[in-house]
Amino acid sequence: MTASASWTARDAAAVWHPFTQHATWTGDDPTVVDRAEGPWLWDVDGRRYLDGVSSLWTTTLGHGHPEVNAAVAAQLARLDHATFLGATHTPGIELAETLIALAPKGDDPELTRVFYAGDGSSAVEAALKIAYQYSTQTGHPRPKFVRLDHAYHGDTLGAVAVGGHELFHEAYRPLLLETIGIASPGDRVHDPDRLTTAVSHLESVMHEHGDQVCAIIVEPMMQGAAGMLDHDAEFLRTARRLAYTYGALLIFDEVATGIGRTGRMWAAEHAGVVPDLLTCGKGITGGYLPLSAVLAAEHVYEAFLSRPGDRSPRTFFHGHTYTANPLCCAAALANLRVMGEQDVVARAARLGDRLGKLLEPVAAKDGVVEVRRLGTMIGVEVAPNGDRTGFRVCRAARDRGVWLRPLGDTVVVMPPLTLGDDEADLLVDALDAAIDEVL
Ligand code: PLP
Repeated sequence: MTASASWTARDAAAVWHPFTQHATWTGDDPTVVDRAEGPWLWDVDGRRYLDGVSSLWTTTLGHGHPEVNAAVAAQLARLDHATFLGATHTPGIELAETLIALAPKGDDPELTRVFYAGDGSSAVEAALKIAYQYSTQTGHPRPKFVRLDHAYHGDTLGAVAVGGHELFHEAYRPLLLETIGIASPGDRVHDPDRLTTAVSHLESVMHEHGDQVCAIIVEPMMQGAAGMLDHDAEFLRTARRLAYTYGALLIFDEVATGIGRTGRMWAAEHAGVVPDLLTCGKGITGGYLPLSAVLAAEHVYEAFLSRPGDRSPRTFFHGHTYTANPLCCAAALANLRVMGEQDVVARAARLGDRLGKLLEPVAAKDGVVEVRRLGTMIGVEVAPNGDRTGFRVCRAARDRGVWLRPLGDTVVVMPPLTLGDDEADLLVDALDAAIDEVL
């Protein structure tokens, strides 16, 4: 028995995995990851794979970067954890200052405050609560959220509600917040006029329900987990304009698109739009430790300051034991510092262009529906050919030393932002051959 088979059997006896159907899990021959370095993963049998999805879209500089490792080790030696309730600490303060300096800028209100959370879902959850409470403290309660069809914002209850995935809504419907779904501006397969449809849908929803809507939430430029559905900057400008007109907040969920992934620090920069709330996670620590944040505009923050004559406190009633854990903040600070020193965002833009070029012949293949890309966020949609075509393509790529993961029949390609040219060639060659094998 291989080490992988033996660990898989122990796993199956004890572990319950996320978003996983355990009736078929062991049959899917999961990869038992043992160690990692740079863009590479090794399994417990010593097989090496290129990490083609950045360990669920988190890795920026690659695994085991000496400067991030050293920063976390130094932080561990100094302060492992301290509460952010009634106390503060230097890495938490420095990281907030860094994020504010990096935040997207424009004609809209500046993002000047940082609220920490633990992962993407919990950042979204905090942003939703902030938006609702903001409405109660600045005018009247507005219980509705406007969201996009196909959106994914995480799996806590609020985040599920503002997602646009029917399967997840069906499973938890009685528990969900009130939301209004807008046609996705990225759904080009079903609607060639998708931008016009989405804009007029958003306009009519805001016209009808505007004074009940506390926020419009969008994954800017690219709906990631929907299968990499890219959309036009014009949609974001419309959302910004309508949020102003109707007094709703605009939330950009940049958990997937932020921190250089799209070839700019933030996807918002492609549109020149600044939201009132911006969530980020995943790449913030470069994949080293779990951390996320909500960046808030000053007018939002100010609505939470008590004033004479208040009948109830305006405090934001939210926070977790590990809010702003110092180790996570130190990892994020080191990741963002190295990214700045090595101009990693510009490198990501060049890597994205290179991958786009390499994928042109793949896009032209029979059996490939479309390649969608913004920077290094790439989806290669294959035509169904029997069951779980996307999954089988990823397995065939794994046999060729490249680890990929599908979203339905869209194969996600999202490597570390510092991937080298030879490794980019290997990734695309393996995907190309895997598609030939399966289709
Ligand atoms: N928001 C977006 C846009 C995401 O893509 C994801 C995860 O893929 C989340 C939120 C949830 O993040 P997490 O899985 O860290 O909770």
